[in-house]
Amino acid sequence: GEELHLKWSKAPCRFCGTGCGVMVAVKDGRVVATHGDMQAEVNRGLNCVKGYFLSKIMYGADRLTRPLMRMRGGQFAKDGELQPVSWDMAFDIMAAHWKRVLREKGPDAVGMFGSGQWTLWEGYAASKLMRAGFRSNNLDPNARHCMASAAVAFIRAFGMDEPMGCYDDFEQADAFVLWGSNMAEMHPILWTRITDRRLSAEHVRIHTLSTYEHRTTDLSDATVIFHPGTDLAILNYIANHIIQSGAVNRDFVQRHVNFRLANTDIGYGLRPDNVLEQRAQHANDAQVSQPADFEAYTKQVAEYTLDRAHEISGVPKTQLEALARLYADPKAKVMSLWTMGFNQHVRGVWANHMVYNLHLLTGKISEPGNGPFSLTGQPSACGTAREVGTFSHRLPADMQVTNPEHRRHSEELWKLPAGLLPDKVGYHAVQQDRMLKDGRLNAYWIQCNNNLQTAPNTNNETYPGYRNPANLVVCSDAYPTVTAMASDIVLPTAMWVEKEGAYGNAERRTHFWHQLVEAPGEARSDLWQLMEFSKRFTTEEVWPQDLLARAPDYRGKTLYEVLFRNGQVDRFPLAEADPGYGNHESAHFGFYVQKGLFEEYAAFGRGHGHDLAPFDTYHQVRGLRWPVVDGKETRWRYREGFDPYVEKGSGLQFYGNLDRRANIIGAPYEPPAESPDQEFDLWLVTGRVLEHWHSGSMTLRVPELYRAFPGAVMFMHPEDATKRGLRRGQEVRIQSRRGEIRSRLETRGRNRVPPGVVFVPFFDASQLINKVTLDATDPISKQTDFKKCAVRVVAA
Ligand code: SF4
Repeated sequence: GEELHLKWSKAPCRFCGTGCGVMVAVKDGRVVATHGDMQAEVNRGLNCVKGYFLSKIMYGADRLTRPLMRMRGGQFAKDGELQPVSWDMAFDIMAAHWKRVLREKGPDAVGMFGSGQWTLWEGYAASKLMRAGFRSNNLDPNARHCMASAAVAFIRAFGMDEPMGCYDDFEQADAFVLWGSNMAEMHPILWTRITDRRLSAEHVRIHTLSTYEHRTTDLSDATVIFHPGTDLAILNYIANHIIQSGAVNRDFVQRHVNFRLANTDIGYGLRPDNVLEQRAQHANDAQVSQPADFEAYTKQVAEYTLDRAHEISGVPKTQLEALARLYADPKAKVMSLWTMGFNQHVRGVWANHMVYNLHLLTGKISEPGNGPFSLTGQPSACGTAREVGTFSHRLPADMQVTNPEHRRHSEELWKLPAGLLPDKVGYHAVQQDRMLKDGRLNAYWIQCNNNLQTAPNTNNETYPGYRNPANLVVCSDAYPTVTAMASDIVLPTAMWVEKEGAYGNAERRTHFWHQLVEAPGEARSDLWQLMEFSKRFTTEEVWPQDLLARAPDYRGKTLYEVLFRNGQVDRFPLAEADPGYGNHESAHFGFYVQKGLFEEYAAFGRGHGHDLAPFDTYHQVRGLRWPVVDGKETRWRYREGFDPYVEKGSGLQFYGNLDRRANIIGAPYEPPAESPDQEFDLWLVTGRVLEHWHSGSMTLRVPELYRAFPGAVMFMHPEDATKRGLRRGQEVRIQSRRGEIRSRLETRGRNRVPPGVVFVPFFDASQLINKVTLDATDPISKQTDFKKCAVRVVAA
């Protein structure tokens, strides 16, 4: 009887880039239960422990339900206390500050930090408002901290972003090589697919490379522990072995591959920001690599003999040889997987290239069971951060802000006067923090992320910018995170199924959900907030006169009218919006806003290898993998028979590049930006735990998940503890050149680190480990290296 009152609907999980499908039950306007969606191909009814408790993430006791602003004596005051205010008052103060900053300092002084947790249309609306409205590319997603290295490397090697394969590879591969990835905790449902394959096919093997042992290594056939940062030497040794043992697939290489060598004088992305500007990130970018040939590449990797790789990495030679033989075996289908181990790396772009190089040398790519596959952390890191183009250098569908043709095409689609879109790459995530601190970025809006907990070196480089008196910092969130509490204005945000949404997962799958419940109190979606804010600016206030002269129809119009009521975004009537479901934004704005934004966005990719299905299709299906042409999704890109863009008879074409060939880009091993020394004698590695998602703002409010892992601990080898006179369970201080935190010492359990290494998860706001981490980035991708810095540990 009780069941009859439940309304069940499909949605993707709110958490990770795996993109599991869930069924969501609503009763009396509240989400009361969820379970894994049996019809979802990704997870086939399963969820990990976070997914099981999805129904509770929206109902934390301290949910934000009203806008808050720092006030004293009834007025906004930067040094005042956060107090409830109306939306109008919050937007009035914001708009006045934005206008003053734009007038006095121009578009470079406004910025926005978004997220791979934005829905597709939220990211799209933010990008349009920032680039076309405020004429600034100072927009970046927190995905910069997550997979920028993969995104940049895919484009430089293949001319197009994102993996060529898909999750179907899990059931086809003979071997899995995990490069620095703990899938058992970070992508648990995909790990079940790998272990299922391992247990159902006798010959299948799992090789896990890591800097410490963890739950994934528990179930691996080979656990390869290497010194932090030395994966580059191992990768080059494997390439050398493939060449020396005659295992190069010469026909494949001749037909499909070009060679380039990376420029090595690239620095470590530390202050001063002295290295490569993030200009066009295609492979022919002379700043980062030069044309070469097979011989030059052979010569480069020849240095990485078995002895040298062993010496640098500390990995036993037998293990190195076994790995190399696996990649070299023409019969073995190999899937290489990675996430933060490669990406959060000061040579992350190179590491990504080096693994493609192995697959390209052997031709093990773009076919069932064979290929390099980068996993993602956030639910829409691919969909919103990469495909929509919310990075400071990108436009939708892999286009770049520095490319005049791409800007012109975007201006046409957006019906904007020619020359309106800015051509300068905006501030990336770490640079935004530096510019806030330096007082050069003065109007700043954070949506859908908790940067003060997750950015590197926060005490020195992030927090000072929030409190700089010249800056107004606005944070939209569902909960009072440390970032929200350090901001000047806090906007309460609708989350997950409190709005209609769309995400794109790691295998190019776009999937939708309906709004199922109302947000509490005055909480509104990020989309509503962006569009409402756009009503407060006229074109005269933000665009220069010469541009307005070319667009007389736009004179006197608001940004809302120009960007969102342009006859294109607002072409679908309210009546079409979600019969049987809620849709707060559409009801508020008077048209089917999500459909309008999606269809305008989809026009960027259709016919350009990024085709999406019509909007309504996605509400019927459990997601589709792009390119979707004639209603058919693509599982293996670049391969004839699977990918409609490949010409008949060609077999395989890397059509993202003009010559339809992929680039092998060779690079050397280089040491990390900071290594242990006498004073700071341990490596610090940071990361996640199974039970908590990212900064813990959602999962710590679920009682069951909180109890399962209530606070961060520091994992250390027992010998290192004894040497320092420390006992398990004792409070310790973790110190670096940048700051210190207190934690509790753990010498057992799921993470078993080797001597010389400590691991601390970052989910716990009471132990902000990013006060300690180093803000070195890969100078090409600008992604932070959270995996390697030097610390010491002493008793508290
Ligand atoms: Fe699936 Fe990731 Fe959600 Fe777990 S957190 S249920 S693996 S999408």
